[in-house]
Amino acid sequence: MTEDRSGELFARASRVTPGGVNSPVRAFGSVGGTPVFMASGSGPYLTDVDGRDYVDLVCSWGPMILGHAHPDVIEAVGRALARGTSFGTVTPGEVELAEELVARAPVEKVRLVSSGTEATMTALRLARGYTGRRIVVKFAGCYHGHADALLAAAGSGVATFGLPDSPGVTGAAAADTLVLPYNDAEAVRQAFAEKPDEIACVITEACPANMGVVPPAGGFNELLASLCSEHGALLIMDEVLTGFRVTHSGWYGREGVAGDLMTFGKVMGGGLPAAAFGGRAEIMDRLAPAGPVYQAGTLSGNPLATAAGLATLRACTPGVYARVDQAAAAVAALAADALKAEGVPFRLQEAGSLFSVFLGVAHPVRDFAEARAQSSAAYAAFFHAMLNRGVYLPPSPYEAWFLSAAHDDSAIGRIADALPAAARAAAQALG
Ligand SMILES: *Cc1c(COP(=O)(O)O)cnc(C)c1O
Repeated sequence: MTEDRSGELFARASRVTPGGVNSPVRAFGSVGGTPVFMASGSGPYLTDVDGRDYVDLVCSWGPMILGHAHPDVIEAVGRALARGTSFGTVTPGEVELAEELVARAPVEKVRLVSSGTEATMTALRLARGYTGRRIVVKFAGCYHGHADALLAAAGSGVATFGLPDSPGVTGAAAADTLVLPYNDAEAVRQAFAEKPDEIACVITEACPANMGVVPPAGGFNELLASLCSEHGALLIMDEVLTGFRVTHSGWYGREGVAGDLMTFGKVMGGGLPAAAFGGRAEIMDRLAPAGPVYQAGTLSGNPLATAAGLATLRACTPGVYARVDQAAAAVAALAADALKAEGVPFRLQEAGSLFSVFLGVAHPVRDFAEARAQSSAAYAAFFHAMLNRGVYLPPSPYEAWFLSAAHDDSAIGRIADALPAAARAAAQALG
């Protein structure tokens, strides 16, 4: 009789927390079954509350690029912890982290916040405050956190003013958000042609990875930058997920297209709550207290979070990026081989250390509508077969797989051992 502490904990959680979780994807809604409660992490592994361990391919949705409990990060946070957890004053770590971000990314000034949601929400306010305009253009399938104006994803396909995606988001909040299909240059041109003086900003994921990995078509990000500059709108490049992960700077390091404003999170907090937005000084100085656009945070620039973020970024040497990329390429190749061996149609799309596998589609996935052609049932079968064999994949077919520099040959070997049975399960689910 094996113990099931996860099951017991989930029953308790469901009594005191909506859906038993504090962030929806953790509930296993799209793969079924009971979420696994984790007790600890070390390198590429997670250990659950029943003592089973897993190779982790979620890496806390990106931050754990060095693996879990990296000694440099543990030591830096330990030292900060002994000095006290929060002062509500300026602290040296904030200055050092801001300098590190400005040195890596194409921004002159940054403001530190505690979550990616806060970063994008405030970047929108700043873009509207700076331009004096109201309309925000976003792309279907791009996720920018859960601020009201950004929870209007509308349907796929036609360009349309957003209907709220969630009860509680008012029509008025969504009505100023124009949702376009991703990678559709013509739709963006047309939006600017129809509303040349009303668009405050275009917000995009530098390389979308929240509908699965859907890289920008060649020239798409450049086109956004040039249309924005031509029409006096700001481009907000959301690098919360890709920043300091896909290269030393982020997706910017691959493509060289900067936003007027950029948003960061995930890796820069090293697993603690830290995020940021930044841009040219002339725009950033419109923020309070230098300017009139208001933003604040009791725990912004928290000393533990800045210590974790700095230790993580400082450990992210070129060798680390090379190792993460190699590990991702190795796992992607193994997954492709296993799926081919079972005759499962699939499409694998990568962005450096992140990639995703769309099951049941064989054509390139260029936007959200094409991403939705994948088989959720096949992914659910694949996911549970991997989980049963000690590999923890994202519990949703719309999320990227994340690697870390700690994923060594032995961790990758365990993934290789699990894949054939998972591919077979996916083949059966597709019938
Ligand atoms: C995760 C994510 C966010 C939101 O960050 P949180 O810290 O979860 O609020 C925003 N944008 C992108 C691209 C993300 O991947």
